[in-house]
Amino acid sequence: MPVMASDDFSVHTDDCDRFDDGMPISDLPDEVGSIDDLDCECWSAFDSLAEIE
Ligand SMILES: [Zn+2]
Repeated sequence: MPVMASDDFSVHTDDCDRFDDGMPISDLPDEVGSIDDLDCECWSAFDSLAEIE
């Protein structure tokens, strides 16, 4: 599940080290159009956005 970090509103996986006190989100933000828009390496385990949902 994508999680939004509370400090910088970046999106991470729920087991990412950089996600601290953020909130779970059921859908990725509209600005995220591809896996490349998620700049944290926690997403490197995924090949495409389709795998996240
Ligand atoms: Zn992350």
